[in-house]
Parts: sequence; C-alpha cells; structure tokens
Amino acid sequence: MQRIRPDYYEKFTCIAGRCPITCCQEWKIAVDADTNRKWKKILPPEDMADKKKNLSAYTIQKDGMQVIGLNENHRCPFLADNKLCRLVSTYGDKVLSETCTVFPREVHAFQTHEEETLMPCCPAVLDLWKEEEIHFPEVHVQRKTNMLLFQIRKKIIESFQNSKKSVENSLLETFYVLLELLKDPISKERILDYFSEDTLLQLQAAIDEVELPVLDTIAECNELLLDLAVNYRKEGLYQNYLNPVADLAEHLFERYETEEILEKWMLFQRKLLPHQNLFHNFLANEVFSDLLVPDGNLKQMVIKMQWIAMEYTAIRQSLFLKWLNDGCQELSYETVRDYVVVITRMMGYDEEDIYEYLTNSFETLIWDWGYLALIVGKAIV
Ligand code: SF4
Repeated sequence: MQRIRPDYYEKFTCIAGRCPITCCQEWKIAVDADTNRKWKKILPPEDMADKKKNLSAYTIQKDGMQVIGLNENHRCPFLADNKLCRLVSTYGDKVLSETCTVFPREVHAFQTHEEETLMPCCPAVLDLWKEEEIHFPEVHVQRKTNMLLFQIRKKIIESFQNSKKSVENSLLETFYVLLELLKDPISKERILDYFSEDTLLQLQAAIDEVELPVLDTIAECNELLLDLAVNYRKEGLYQNYLNPVADLAEHLFERYETEEILEKWMLFQRKLLPHQNLFHNFLANEVFSDLLVPDGNLKQMVIKMQWIAMEYTAIRQSLFLKWLNDGCQELSYETVRDYVVVITRMMGYDEEDIYEYLTNSFETLIWDWGYLALIVGKAIV
C-alpha cells in the first residue's frame, strides 16, 4: 500500500540527552503485550537503583492499559541522569516497547493509502517547523465521498498555510465553512464554491463585522484551560508548567484591572508575532494528521476542528498567562515550544475520549460558530 508523508518527516531525529522536555516523563508510556512478555525474561540494567526481578516488574496497569510505572519524580525508571535510556544503553533499541520505538511518529491507515506524520508533543518536531514552511503530500483516491473529504482537508490546510492570514482568521473561516458544508450533502461544486476566493472574501468581511469582546474570550479561555488541567494537577503532572498559569487563570480578574488586561492582551499579541510560522505549521499539521481519520465523515471533521481550536486557544492562553507571570518581557521560542509540547501531550486523547470530554463539557457535541469564535477571538495585530 502506498505510504505518503509530509516533507519534514525524514528530517526528524530524537535529540535524546539534549531534549528539554523528554517524552520519558509525566505521561503514560504504554507497554504492548508482546514486549511485556519478552520483558518477563529480561533482567533490569545493572545501574537501576531499585532492582526488580525483571523488566516487566516495572510495569503497572493504568486506565485499562499496561504502562511503565513512573518514579516519585514522575519519570520513567529507565531514564538515567544523563537523560539517556538505560534499556537502550544496555540492550539496544530492539528491547523497547512499540510506543517508545515509534514516538513521535504516527500512521493513519486509510483504505486507499497510509499517511505518516510526526506529533507536536516532541520538541525536536517543533524545531523542524519553527522557520521553514512545511509541505504535505497530494492524496489521490478514487472513492467519491472519500475524495471530497480529502479535498476539504486540503483546502483547510491551505488556509492555515496562508501566512497573510492570522491563524485565528483561518480557524473562524474554516469552521464556518465546515458547518455550512454539513447542512447538505457534500459535492465538489459546493466545496469549490465555499472555498472560492470570492466566498472567502465575503466571509472575511462578515467576520470582520462580528463583535467578539476580548475580555469574554480571555475569561472563557481561562475556564477551558483550568478544565483541561484539573486532572493533571491532581496527579501532580506538568506542575512546573501548569501550576503558575492555572493559579493566574483562577485570579486574573482580581489581580488586574480590566483596562490593564486589555492593554496586556494587545501587547502579548505582538509578542506572539515572531512565532507565527510555527503556529501556521503546527495547525496545518494538526489538520493533516487529525482532521480526517480512517472511515471518518464530515461530522467527525467538524468535531475534530473544535478540538484543534481548543488546543490552539489553550496553548495561546497558557502563553499569555506565563508571559504575564514573567513580567511581560519577550516571549522566547523555548517557552512557546514548551507549552505547545505540554498542552498537546495533555490533549492527546483518542477519538472516544475526545467525544466523551466534549459531551461532558458542552451543551451540544457540535458547537455553533459563535462559541468557537468566542474562544478563538480575533487577531488584533
Ligand atoms: S520528546 Fe522527542 S526529542 Fe525528546 S526524547 Fe522524546 S522523542 Fe526524543
């Protein structure tokens, strides 16, 4: 079967010991059944402080899956002080579980072809998207409905890759078009019409007329962020990143006057500008890898678009709060990268969990355009 991938894919290499926020900490590292069976016959590396009878003895059951039990610092017990993996140093790559071997790569197997991508929850991947424009492969499929869905995805990727447009505008426009397309059976003509230059210009003019109060956007994004963070904070995960911003999210309107918040928000938007290339690439890649899943349909694409919008707004909000906490100085690439990594790790849910989260958190599974517009807001600069 044909395998396709974006152009940056081959450039990735794990930076291991130099990684600023290694994947060997603070999340569930799955151990597949085959590996676990193999691990029952393998002794722990010599330099393990806590020596158990075999490698499998370091795994536990969590949320219905077998995972590596993290130590008291929420790190993988096989991670050495030099940030290298003791299993690899002792036994080589072959001993690793499938998750550790594959991360941060992912494959989506469609009926017609397979698509490979890299996930944004690895800092070395974000480094590839920092400056250059990335390119996605063309998809050629025969089945009519599938072809139309891939066409919609392509148009949305193009929107996020348009550097003349803010990512906020792309989110507002493309979500509107998706909702419109959902109203009637999709056809090639309708797609071309909705994504035509004329229609998009009219849509942009209409969006410009809509009033989106900035303070409401900030207040709602605080709520979203707190809600997303609640379980991670309870478990003591990502504390250094989450606790300061969550604390400010809870008390922002007590600590600052509203005028001051508005002023800071404008200034913050300027500080975000040097990172626009990263965000254009990040969102284009999220659309390529997550918007359309194998056997997916248009309704699922709408729901995924909501999740992608939530992800972006949670990243932007954490950066705003972090920047306020740090005294409103420059916003470094490293800070932006850290929060993209942490939020995407926190929101890396599978399909079923996304649906459950949205169903429990919102009145309707499919939002109206106004709600997405409220959380996304408009780019001011
Ligand atoms: S997060 Fe990425 S760069 Fe860092 S250790 Fe994991 S795979 Fe390597």
